[in-house]
Amino acid sequence: MATQKMLKFVTIGREMPEKRDAAARSEDFHEIYREFAAAKATEQASRCSQCGVPYCQSHCPLHNNIPDWLRLTAEGRLAEAYARSQETNTFPEICGRICPQDRLCEGNCVIEQSGHGTVTIGAIEKYITDTAWENGWVQPAAPVEERLESIGIIGAGPGGLAAADRLRRMGFQVTVYDRHDRAGGLLIYGIPGFKLEKEVVERRNRLLADGGVEFVLNTNIGEDISFDAIRGKHDAVLIATGVYKTRDLDIDNADARGVVKALDYLTASNRVDLGDEVPDFEDGELNASGKRVIVIGGGDTAMDCVRTAIRQGAQSVKCLYRRDRANMPGSQREVQNAEEEGVEFVWLTAPGAFSGHVTGEAMTAQEVDVDGEPVSISAVRVQKMRLGAPDVSGRRSPELIDGADYDEPAELVIKALGFEPEEIPRLWGVDGLEVTRWGTIKADYQTHSTSLPGVYAVGDIVRGASLVVWAIRDGREAADSIADYLIGAARVAAE
Ligand SMILES: Cc1cc2nc3c(=O)[nH]c(=O)nc-3n(C[C@H](O)[C@H](O)[C@H](O)COP(=O)(O)OP(=O)(O)OC[C@H]3O[C@@H](n4cnc5c(N)ncnc54)[C@H](O)[C@@H]3O)c2cc1C
Ligand code: SF4
Repeated sequence: MATQKMLKFVTIGREMPEKRDAAARSEDFHEIYREFAAAKATEQASRCSQCGVPYCQSHCPLHNNIPDWLRLTAEGRLAEAYARSQETNTFPEICGRICPQDRLCEGNCVIEQSGHGTVTIGAIEKYITDTAWENGWVQPAAPVEERLESIGIIGAGPGGLAAADRLRRMGFQVTVYDRHDRAGGLLIYGIPGFKLEKEVVERRNRLLADGGVEFVLNTNIGEDISFDAIRGKHDAVLIATGVYKTRDLDIDNADARGVVKALDYLTASNRVDLGDEVPDFEDGELNASGKRVIVIGGGDTAMDCVRTAIRQGAQSVKCLYRRDRANMPGSQREVQNAEEEGVEFVWLTAPGAFSGHVTGEAMTAQEVDVDGEPVSISAVRVQKMRLGAPDVSGRRSPELIDGADYDEPAELVIKALGFEPEEIPRLWGVDGLEVTRWGTIKADYQTHSTSLPGVYAVGDIVRGASLVVWAIRDGREAADSIADYLIGAARVAAE
């Protein structure tokens, strides 16, 4: 009986794959978790209680059939486990690596609620799909029938690529445009290799190209080609451009030399990891080597910056966050990883001003040196905060403690305060593309259609800064809506 292989959570404890030693992993950009050995994956999968109402599944944005593929893994039927897993997830090995499982599937695992420790769902999902890659089970699209209709997808992040994969497998002609020279969006240039190695993304890009998806890279829509021209070329268009406008500090000299934006910093580091020449890294501007580094922010981007700075050989890395550990948005798992690697978190603090080399005093305006160049940062004036009453969202608001400021020396400050949408209708000169009051594109919750006929939108540009797994879900759903729209139009034309 299948259940004999399952329900082992009472006798078998929760185990994650082995984590590399902090000192060794801080020297490179390889992933920090090793792969489960086959026996360990089988054993850990067998802990699942196969409960009648699987909360893990309902709290996975893709509603993955988790109990099914855990059971198949426990029974050693990995090819079937992979087949089941990829029915609902376009990039399972990516989600297995970088989903915040503690807030999604694993955080709602029933045996976790009973105090036995959650099933390691993410690590097993990764194991199943990595095994599938090794065994050649992951195959490019090979549509049974080619269709004439073409879809233009703007943005090669997980939202755009999930839609591209699904549409291509249905036989549609798919072209993906991106302003970068590589596909992957934040998977390639945002998220560092120690969470998601670049080859994991690049092999997916190659698979899509092998399946007939056409990539048009180095092409910025709105600059190199107009949005109207894209609409004219394709029968339907999907906007999946993400959010890239950096939130900034409202203090003087927020742009002093040595104060950099998180995504510029991470992109440079990821490019170096990919083997590119990066002048801003070579000349030290976007390189933490030997510097005292302060990262401002408490989300996933801030966590990626602090850990990147450690790997670049920073002298010290401190993270300033205005709330406390319990109230930060970033994953607790990543905070723990960062602390093990030598990052110091300075909770309940915010930057008040930056000091420069010229006067050593807090700068009141952008100071320049004798050559007219902005002075370099030498210290951050740190303000201490306390948590006050909850705001409308229920979170306790940080309040300034007067007179408790101090100066913290720093040669590099990285601003990781979050992202907002760019003003797409204005940038692209499109009338009639409706946006919300936050500037995100208005799209129907289920069909992902926008206010323009035949134009759809998914991922962060609709949701605001979110998660990879939500972008994948949106992309898959939009692909189905686009297919309905195009097949319906073809039927009408034939009648
Ligand atoms: C540093 C960092 C770490 C993160 N870590 C995690 C994590 O651990 N787990 C997780 O689930 N999520 C994480 N996220 C969030 C996650 O990366 C995003 O939610 C996800 O990538 C959104 O996917 P998307 O397809 O909507 O957009 P994106 O991935 O942003 O892709 C959009 C693409 O559109 C392209 N584009 C934009 N404008 C144009 C234009 N005009 N013309 C042509 N191309 C254009 C961009 O170049 C980009 O390639 C992280 C985000 C950041 C910034
Ligand atoms: S996709 Fe993410 S949330 Fe869903 S099962 Fe996998 S790791 Fe969990």
